[in-house]
Amino acid sequence: MSSLASLANHQVRLARRPAGLPTRDDWSFTTQDVAEPAEGAVVVRTLALSLDPAMRGWMNEGRSYIPPVGLGEVMRAGGIGRVVASRNARYAPGDLVSAAIGVQEYATIGEADASRVALAKIDPRIASVPQWLNVLGLPGMTAYFGLLEVGQPKAGDTVVVSGAAGAVGQTVGQLARIKGCRAVGIAGGSAKCEFVVKELGFDACIDYKALDVKAALKTHCPQGIDVYFDNVGGDILDAALARLARGARVVICGAISQYNNMGDVKGPKNYMSLLVNRARMEGMVVFDYASRYPQAIAELAGYLQSGRLKSREDVVAGGVAAFPEALLKLFKGENFGKLVLQVAED
Ligand code: NAP
Repeated sequence: MSSLASLANHQVRLARRPAGLPTRDDWSFTTQDVAEPAEGAVVVRTLALSLDPAMRGWMNEGRSYIPPVGLGEVMRAGGIGRVVASRNARYAPGDLVSAAIGVQEYATIGEADASRVALAKIDPRIASVPQWLNVLGLPGMTAYFGLLEVGQPKAGDTVVVSGAAGAVGQTVGQLARIKGCRAVGIAGGSAKCEFVVKELGFDACIDYKALDVKAALKTHCPQGIDVYFDNVGGDILDAALARLARGARVVICGAISQYNNMGDVKGPKNYMSLLVNRARMEGMVVFDYASRYPQAIAELAGYLQSGRLKSREDVVAGGVAAFPEALLKLFKGENFGKLVLQVAED
């Protein structure tokens, strides 16, 4: 085992709870030595981190589906890394792994923590590192279980997804097509909409920044919406509710338009549409499906390898020091595809 003594671990910690959009002052930057692992532990060198809208929620105090990141703690983040030292028989130096690494250059993961941080070997022959954070990572799992389990699409259904050019949205629409549905995306800007239709094969995409979404949904969903997969909330959710078909399923996956609100979350006005259309609206949290990720990964990897499923990632350079600014891209719509922060060259 090579010595780790010369290595420095740069980390980003939550310094205070942000009001609105996070600023650089909400973070602190620390450096620690990298110690040799204790019995049962592995040391992982971070290659890439997944930047997720949910990170904004983890910074807030209060009850949620997962405890908030504590003040002074290394910011929570999923990532991919290489094992550089191991005293755990399941992992050898050189293995490529995924885990909740945190926003830091090295993570030491003890045996007792391995399942809590979802430490798992990944196979680079199946997909690239950014794809393992996208289609074969949590966004892909969210799309798969959110659409198929909660959305219950049937062949011939019209499936509408917001955030269509983003990580979750791109896979939702393509999976809908694979399952025999019509897929209509909603995204910000003509470049994203063109990509969604021409590259990903959606039937249509509505540029919510240029068009009246309610009117455009009427044009593109003449029989109504059977499944609405919501990533954004706010006015777009209301427009989709106004166009539901009878028996529609509304999947509440996220509400990014509301995550940096200083005041109350804007709730749906048009919820009576659920009554009129005998429809239902249901929230989902991807972690509830963790025991079934292998099934989803196998199916999605098959589509990727056969070319039926495409993926787009937006890889930002700059290492952990660039994390505060890179995260903001999500809330400004500046990411084009799954946002990934590259921390080290492999
Ligand atoms: P993403 O779509 O790759 O990136 C976020 C996108 O949201 C931006 O690129 C932007 O796209 C759009 N956006 C930002 N502000 C907006 C606004 N005010 N109104 C409308 N759109 C806005 O992110 P992702 O990782 O795939 O996540 C998508 C959603 O899924 C998020 O709400 C996230 O919290 C949720 N999620 C939920 C689970 C779960 O278990 N429930 C798991 C993973 C993710 P445009 O340029 O098109 O506006």
